[in-house]
Amino acid sequence: MQQAEVKLRLELTKYARKIVDMGLVVGPGGNISARHEDIMYISPSGFAFEDIEPDQWVPVSISTGDILDNTHRPSSEVLMHLYGYRVNEAVTAMVHTHPAHCIAFTLVEQHLPMMFPDQAALVGEIGFVDYVVPTTHVLADAVAAKITAHNSLLLGNHGLVTVGKNLREAFYRTQVVEESAKIYLLAKSVGTPKLLTVDEYKEIQGLESEAYRVNLLQQL
Ligand SMILES: [Zn+2]
Repeated sequence: MQQAEVKLRLELTKYARKIVDMGLVVGPGGNISARHEDIMYISPSGFAFEDIEPDQWVPVSISTGDILDNTHRPSSEVLMHLYGYRVNEAVTAMVHTHPAHCIAFTLVEQHLPMMFPDQAALVGEIGFVDYVVPTTHVLADAVAAKITAHNSLLLGNHGLVTVGKNLREAFYRTQVVEESAKIYLLAKSVGTPKLLTVDEYKEIQGLESEAYRVNLLQQL
């Protein structure tokens, strides 16, 4: 096993446990993957995240879709991950979870507005995908169609998908989007949320704010 593969398997195992610790999935829900060159390593089907061991992540060829080790079946959401990597080469990790506040938000609204600096700097505009049956190529196509324009997609009545240049970034985006949905719902329940203006949002995303974003990521 190459050193890069060993490292990726350990990282996947670490973030899978973090996802459980943060309450972002329940039971065997959700799936995550990371890629090295043409191979993505994805969570095995039927496992709760906290039970996955480093050697159980399933290698799948991104270009052909072939499963390179049949010891375990890949997650039933394998197509969503495969199509995501195929359409956006900048993506190196994908995190799909079922966070409660994100799902609750999609039951009542579609556009999660810009509310605070971390959200503007590290996530940006959050996309929305209408409900379709999970584990189908229809969902995989719908996610692939938007995963270049957005690094985070709310899935109606279902959950959240985030991508990043590494697992840390994808995971952090999942946390920020879930926090955003929670804050929005909390604020909305007691009044009218005061949002960031377009100028305030653009200022955070501007070049002079790049250092702010980098600093945030280095703290992780
Ligand atoms: Zn799901």
